[in-house]
Amino acid sequence: MNDVLRHDWTLEELQALHDAPLLDLVFQAATVHRQFHNPREMQVSKLISIKTGACPEDCSYCAQSSRYSTGVGAERMMDRAQVVEIASRAKAAGVSRVCLGAAWRSVKDNDQFDRVLDMVRSVTDMGMEVCCTLGMLTENQAKRLEDAGLYAYNHNVDSSEEFYETIITTRTYADRLQTLGNVRKTNVTLCSGGIIGLGESVIDRLKMLQTLAAVRPHPESVPINILSRVEGTPLADNADVPVWEVIRMIATTRLVMPKSDVRLTAGRVKLDPTAQAMCFLAGANSIFSSETEFMLTKAVPSPSYDADRELLSALGMTMRPAFANPHSSRAAECAAESAAGHSVVAVA
Ligand code: SAM
Ligand code: SF4
Repeated sequence: MNDVLRHDWTLEELQALHDAPLLDLVFQAATVHRQFHNPREMQVSKLISIKTGACPEDCSYCAQSSRYSTGVGAERMMDRAQVVEIASRAKAAGVSRVCLGAAWRSVKDNDQFDRVLDMVRSVTDMGMEVCCTLGMLTENQAKRLEDAGLYAYNHNVDSSEEFYETIITTRTYADRLQTLGNVRKTNVTLCSGGIIGLGESVIDRLKMLQTLAAVRPHPESVPINILSRVEGTPLADNADVPVWEVIRMIATTRLVMPKSDVRLTAGRVKLDPTAQAMCFLAGANSIFSSETEFMLTKAVPSPSYDADRELLSALGMTMRPAFANPHSSRAAECAAESAAGHSVVAVA
């Protein structure tokens, strides 16, 4: 049995977990999952792209990078009323969290950021958890988001440090960790994970888990994306990730970060209901759902509210209400880590 809440996993240990016979691994992960989470509850989020396209970054997987011809053009930033309207429909569908995404390299202290802060206040006032994913963030900007009531900030490390350099050249892994550290200086919870199917090795995936597990406390939410191949990007012709590898990654993530929500995100649409159920058994307890069949842009498909309602109902599961994460004592954990002299993010 794994030791709870470790920050010092060795690669050998991670590999031993990951490479165990699949059903042993799933059984172990399901056991740990049940110790820390209600296995009948699913955390469901709705992603709203508040500023789509024309991103200056060159992330090789992304439909929104201005470097590639993907058919996703620059759109004007959404206004508050539009966001509130989409959030209201999501709430009516049982969704507890709204994630506001912007195709920005980093946040600038301008009128657009003020408008995001307004959106955060409005959706929080509706009784929903709000997450933002806006690119790099300074400590001061993280504090302003905290003051506006932000519940979570998403910033993925995507892969291992070595592999990261081959998929993104316009920023460094250290930049990414810096933003995680800035968020950790506030009471905003952290959502950070990565993508499988970029062409990385299993060792890259495990190194990514090692990096995430070194964050103190562990990110409250760990998204595992499966690459959604986008026409026009350098990764458009990548091979599909075999379903067994998806299940292994979910189960290993659950074992390494037992208290975190493990989020089965982009690419879930590729998995049939039985494969999704296997991922849920292996510890995935968080998903994105959408009223249309798209998640982020028309290039990234997502299961719909109706399909997910049917799936959860077939599995005897319900949607977790907002602010009901049993492990949300983040502020106290952070204080304890600092008091013990640990830095919050192990910057390489
Ligand atoms: N610009 C912000 C940033 O990069 O942090 C937020 C935009 S985007 C929502 C954030 C994440 O979505 C990426 O870090 C990546 O993990 C995921 N993502 C984007 N495109 C994807 C794709 N085609 N397939 C799988 N995951 C994808
Ligand atoms: Fe820009 Fe984010 Fe897409 Fe990278 S993942 S190109 S930073 S929107």
